[in-house]
Amino acid sequence: MFQEGTTKVLQKLHAPELRDQNHHLVYFSKEHMTSITGYSINATPCCGKTYSTPRYRSMNFSAWEHWTDGYRDYSLMPNDHGLRKCECGGYYLIKELKTIAHAEKANAPDTTDVPAEELPKAITQARTPEVELAARLEYWQHLNHVYRACYRNHRDAEMSATQSAWEAANPDTRTLWQKIRKIEPPKYTPQPNSPFTYPPFEPTDEQCNNMKALLDLLLPIEKNRSYLLEIAELHRELGQFDKAFMMLQELPEEDLGVTSQLIAKLVDKKETAPIRYRM
Ligand SMILES: [Zn+2]
Repeated sequence: MFQEGTTKVLQKLHAPELRDQNHHLVYFSKEHMTSITGYSINATPCCGKTYSTPRYRSMNFSAWEHWTDGYRDYSLMPNDHGLRKCECGGYYLIKELKTIAHAEKANAPDTTDVPAEELPKAITQARTPEVELAARLEYWQHLNHVYRACYRNHRDAEMSATQSAWEAANPDTRTLWQKIRKIEPPKYTPQPNSPFTYPPFEPTDEQCNNMKALLDLLLPIEKNRSYLLEIAELHRELGQFDKAFMMLQELPEEDLGVTSQLIAKLVDKKETAPIRYRM
């Protein structure tokens, strides 16, 4: 029903990897590379402290896991919402930084991510609605991580049960002669009609309140058309399927793709769970 990572793909996650100074994956294999051409030296909007940020020569946006709430795992590019913490204790957005110089080497410290447990504080102390929006979007994905872990375990168990059942029904019955002739044994390949279930999604009050606060920040849509997919997904995860459908109808044709089709299918089935998929 949905495109999902096969076990084979998930095993690749343990391949060697390199991360840049912000711990974002920059190198995965020869085919999947993001490279850096230098650094920008920037001043923060709160107190003018300087931080360096990488300037990318080439970008690779592939990720092994996509989720309908916008979270990407094992991604080659930063995929947070640009929220950072300043030395002065303030919170700012990467896009608010003022570039004051370019440099070959990072001669100022890296920007600092906001730890997940500090997000509620970043929300209450937000200087602008944009900072609050970024903090709440990160908090939304962070609070969904508990469900993500259940979902991965559930899917792994179901996929391996499907494979075991197939292997039991298709035993290796080759004769010695066939083995000598190198006839291949029966080999399992995941089928599109395999069982596909996932655990129930039961958001806590904290999750619901954050999602409602996000909708308050993002609605009406006139100023936030670039967030239409997120708005649709928030309505869906809150079980507001009619509103989710209305938002999907607002999407311009050029923005219709794998993610919007999947969200539309889930709205149609009245499903609220965040779902994992592959592009
Ligand atoms: Zn500061």
